[in-house]
Amino acid sequence: MIIQLEKNIDKTQKEKLFDKLTALKIDARLIKTNFREYIVGIPSGEFDLREIGNMPGIADIHRVSDSYKMVSRKWKLNNTVIDLGDGITIGNGELAIMAGPCAIESEEQIISIVNHLKKNNIRIMRGGVYKPRSSPYSFRGLGIEGLKLFHKHCSENGIKVITEVMQVSQVEPMLDYVDIFQVGARNSQNFSLLDVLGKTDKPVMIKRGISGTIDELLYSAEYVFSGGNEKIMLCERGIRTFERATRNTLDLSAIPILKDKTHLPVIVDPSHGVGIRNYVPPMALAGVMSGADGVIMEIHETPEKAFSDGPQSLYYPQAEKLYRQLRETKKLRDHF
Ligand code: PEP
Ligand code: MN
Repeated sequence: MIIQLEKNIDKTQKEKLFDKLTALKIDARLIKTNFREYIVGIPSGEFDLREIGNMPGIADIHRVSDSYKMVSRKWKLNNTVIDLGDGITIGNGELAIMAGPCAIESEEQIISIVNHLKKNNIRIMRGGVYKPRSSPYSFRGLGIEGLKLFHKHCSENGIKVITEVMQVSQVEPMLDYVDIFQVGARNSQNFSLLDVLGKTDKPVMIKRGISGTIDELLYSAEYVFSGGNEKIMLCERGIRTFERATRNTLDLSAIPILKDKTHLPVIVDPSHGVGIRNYVPPMALAGVMSGADGVIMEIHETPEKAFSDGPQSLYYPQAEKLYRQLRETKKLRDHF
């Protein structure tokens, strides 16, 4: 059960409400987010909703049968829209395109990519400065200094930054230089990190774990929401299966399922999803037709020289063609 509290509920009304919930043997937790206050109640048996519904200070009350609550569409029918400022939003019906290198490699590279994005009217740039690498000897990112340069060039050009945060200690130093925190597949169930991101006011994109189920992804989002941050989006980036012809298996079916189960925006990552450059465009388009609110993809000025994920990074001309196709495909979807 979710109880949405009135914005002007007073202390006594709140206390009475909690007393009532205790009397009804409902385990109640207060959630304060960047927008509102809620109570999530887990009942231990049957109860009459009317006994609570008429109490003062309550704006809305819903039974939610899903075991995740705040991220469930059963409670909130309207899509969550994430406002990044400067007229850039995610989840409002327009297709959000985020593109950039796997890893930020140099200032020259940032400038080159920013110019490419501007030319194509792409308003969000991706790029890792903390890279989770399977081998500790691979390039692990430029760290906070790289992020500062990344953010400087983007903000000067009206572009928003999405970048991965790998651990709790990085959150605070990164805050001023990030527009969206990305939680990587390997950290999808790092609950301490999700808890801390719940205490920030920055949008968070949570990637599906390499062997994570759709429900597990929703529970991860519930951590951030119940921690206090409603600005969440989910990302399907492929899962590990027995198939070896691709890097991962992009689970397109997760997209309509997530759109059904949750009000949060859903992003598709065809780059990690398939892992092979020439198959990225068809999977990106399929992601849009499946209902994704946005696409995140890897591009590089010279992919053969990329420090990481070169084989799945698109050349600029390839990316430009794909942006056009994505926008056309989105229009086609809107006709359905
Ligand atoms: C990335 O976005 O570069 C990345 C490492 O993604 P994932 O966590 O999905 O592997
Ligand atoms: Mn990558």
